Amino acid sequence: MTKHVYSFGGDRNEGNATMRNLLGGKGCNLAEMACLDIPVPPGFTVTTEVCTLYYKEGKKLPQSVKDQVLEALKVLETARGKKLGDEKNPLLVSVRSGARVSMPGMMDTVLNLGLNDKTVEGLASASGNPRFAYDSYRRFLMMYSDVVLGVHKDHFEHKIEALKAKTGKALDTEISAEEWKGLCTEFKVIVKEKLGREFPQDPIEQLFGGIQAVFDSWDTERAIIYRKMNRIPDEWGTAVNVQTMVFGNMGDDCGTGVAFTRDTGTGEPYFYGEYLINAQGEDVVAGTRTPQPITKYQAADSGLKSLEEVMPEVFKTLLATCNRLEAHFKDMQDLEFTIEQGKLYMLQTRIGKRTAVAGIRIAMDLVKEKMIDEKTALLRLNADDLVQLLAPIFNQKEKDAFKKAGKLMTKGLNAGPGAATGVIALSAEEAEVLAAKGPVVLVRIETSPEDLAGMVAANGILTARGGMTSHAAVVARGMGKPCVCGASALNIDVKKRTVSVGGIVLNAGTDFISIDGSTGEVFAGQLAASPAEVNQVVVDKTLKGEDSETYKRFAQIMEWSNNYRTMNVRTNADTPNDADVAKAFGAEGIGLCRTEHMFFEGERIIAFREMILSKDLEGRKAALKKLLPIQRTDFEGIFTAMNGLPVTIRLIDPPLHEFVPHDERGQAEMAKVIGVSLEEVKSRVEKLHEFNPMMGHRGCRLGITYPEIIRMQMRAIVEAAINVGKKGIVAKPEVMVPLVGHVKELAYTKGEMLDELAAINKEQGTTFSCPIGTMIEIPRAAITADEVATEAEFFSFGTNDLTQMGFGFSRDDSGTFLPEYVAKKILEDDPFQSLDQKGIGGLVRIAVEKGRSTRPNIKLGVCGEHGGDPRSVKFFHGVGLNYVSCSPYRVPIAIVAAAQAALESAK
Ligand code: ADP
Ligand code: MG
Ligand code: MG
Repeated sequence: MTKHVYSFGGDRNEGNATMRNLLGGKGCNLAEMACLDIPVPPGFTVTTEVCTLYYKEGKKLPQSVKDQVLEALKVLETARGKKLGDEKNPLLVSVRSGARVSMPGMMDTVLNLGLNDKTVEGLASASGNPRFAYDSYRRFLMMYSDVVLGVHKDHFEHKIEALKAKTGKALDTEISAEEWKGLCTEFKVIVKEKLGREFPQDPIEQLFGGIQAVFDSWDTERAIIYRKMNRIPDEWGTAVNVQTMVFGNMGDDCGTGVAFTRDTGTGEPYFYGEYLINAQGEDVVAGTRTPQPITKYQAADSGLKSLEEVMPEVFKTLLATCNRLEAHFKDMQDLEFTIEQGKLYMLQTRIGKRTAVAGIRIAMDLVKEKMIDEKTALLRLNADDLVQLLAPIFNQKEKDAFKKAGKLMTKGLNAGPGAATGVIALSAEEAEVLAAKGPVVLVRIETSPEDLAGMVAANGILTARGGMTSHAAVVARGMGKPCVCGASALNIDVKKRTVSVGGIVLNAGTDFISIDGSTGEVFAGQLAASPAEVNQVVVDKTLKGEDSETYKRFAQIMEWSNNYRTMNVRTNADTPNDADVAKAFGAEGIGLCRTEHMFFEGERIIAFREMILSKDLEGRKAALKKLLPIQRTDFEGIFTAMNGLPVTIRLIDPPLHEFVPHDERGQAEMAKVIGVSLEEVKSRVEKLHEFNPMMGHRGCRLGITYPEIIRMQMRAIVEAAINVGKKGIVAKPEVMVPLVGHVKELAYTKGEMLDELAAINKEQGTTFSCPIGTMIEIPRAAITADEVATEAEFFSFGTNDLTQMGFGFSRDDSGTFLPEYVAKKILEDDPFQSLDQKGIGGLVRIAVEKGRSTRPNIKLGVCGEHGGDPRSVKFFHGVGLNYVSCSPYRVPIAIVAAAQAALESAK
């Protein structure tokens, strides 16, 4: 026969902490505490399997379960020398829910179950304390009615309020036995009125009613929503705990409270909590009385009386017990306790929830205290949480105040972590102008490469349109700038120069707006933000490492991770500055250096536009000649910054149309430069227009139609490498061709590149060479990777485009429907954020296998945004890539994720 009920505490203890799946978190830890001889009121747990059974049977408790419950009850009664329903000396119990992971969506606890009109009298005389007995009864009537019978607790609260108003009493503790008794009668009348039947007086009926209500609560809307949000499977079910009551409400030598072994907000190792004298259950959190601090330290100067002072002996035992439990579970504990006539009982212990920052600190402190080893600490970290160590932050209290004041405008996508505040700028130029005077937030419908300078000038970027990999998002993350994207509720009126949502209207140029890129929140007004200490040390160099505890922790995590990871971590960087930042964060090379960004600044864009708009080869060559030295200088800068580390350079990729001027002023300027009419420029721009530029004339197709462009680029790279080499700097370029779908595209392009290389070597009398490889970002290239690898010396998976092409989801338009996909569970995640491991990952897997089949030593890396997503990084480790590459500020995250992947696969 299946065992459905497990006893804990007392003489029979059948569970322990390893039985979480069966007994739920609360139940298994109660049993574990009993194993440790920590005083726990005895009881029993009905397993999570019964929950599943209950639903299978059409919401009925099988007889075998009922039998086992009654048997466990008998054991409990014998141990306590009391019986449920005994009119002289009744046993009372609580009924508590308890899923595998704690779920705030679940049922509220019912306390003092077993009381009725007769047993309450027995309790009064047995305890010699009628006030306590009727206080307990009224609590039970209210909780049971609310939670099990569905009569809302407000009805009862109103009665208590009315009594207090009538008698002029402010606190529950002032209400007398007689008064509580009177309320109990009124409570039962309410139930009768609402339900048309009496409140159940039979304790066994009450007990099964309570158990069923817990199982029913598994299927309430809020529980279902919570499970969805937290990826908790519906099949898990909840357990039910039935536990002997201990009473914190018997008088002034009694009380109840909660405690934490470390600070849940900062992780600081200090014990704290709250308690109330003469109180029961949730009184501490209910807010009707002001809870008191547990320690003297906490109470300092508050005028409040700490438990440490009021009950020093109990306090000592509590502190010792909590420390023991922390050492036992090897993690910060969140505990519940009750003091009954001077004796301490523990009612719950669990691993406490904490902020990201606290999580990091606690894991590291536990290593220092030798409770866990560094591998365990690394595995406990949430790699994504490192972002919180690097991002500027708002003060939480100030943020809450803004929310209360109705200044939260809307919520968009949390595209670039960190907090930014500034005056609203509606264009890149405006951002640059305003930035000279103070902080700026650039607010745009969406951004384009032309906005780059404005994005650099701004403290943060806010867009109304675009997803997590829209231009604004990718560039902002690359720059480590806070960014909120796709805040579609925003009304941006460029003519009126306002940004509004509902009644809130802000004026560009004067009004402040604040964005939290970690949460997606947008606030009207100015919130104070401060830069993260780690950045002050690593990037700004305004703070010394030894002066920052946060930095030291960060550095320690990096050191541990570097010891365990096997995959290399590179960065996506286009400028020497990006490269420097990434290197400071630990990048071991550049995995993606985009060359087109180099064409935007200042005079370059003119020369580049001249090249694009030229009518013939001669014109193009003349313009390219102007670009060559510029690009060469850029590469010299990057090679110098990365001295000795590999730099993967991607040849020009975007459609040319993105570079040409679309406004008349710009076009007129170009007409002058090239020496043709404005009409002529207009018509050439027109000709470049494409219906579907993402799949149009871009990537390697540009080099096939205009080989002179990639020849210029190859020359810039090689000459730069040779030049810096003369100064003793080791340049290690790896050149890659984007958007290859067919091996012959690569073969042709490579031919041009090698030809140029040979020409340079001949000119200079050198023998320079560098690897030439390809991006794998078109499904056809993945499927035919064995052929592609005959030409490519390395693959770099461009998983952004591979996702776009593999799913057929436009990167720039998916913001309108992908959130819906995720909400409706069609997709677990946005595939642009976390790699779709089955489909797009399948293509990666195929390409890895096929690539290695024809070139066994082929070097493999990834340079899509996924290179900085921990779950994707673990996947890439699994398929055996040599490195991942991500934006500079995500390098530490990738480093930790790579270490975790290595540790997990070693297990
Ligand atoms: P939650 O999961 O919402 O915290 P709990 O089941 O832990 O619900 O209980 C709610 C409150 O009731 C807690 O303060 C707990 O300590 C208290 N409580 C539960 N069972 C008992 C009991 N048998 N004796 C005394 N207090 C109890
Ligand atoms: Mg609890
Ligand atoms: Mg691409």
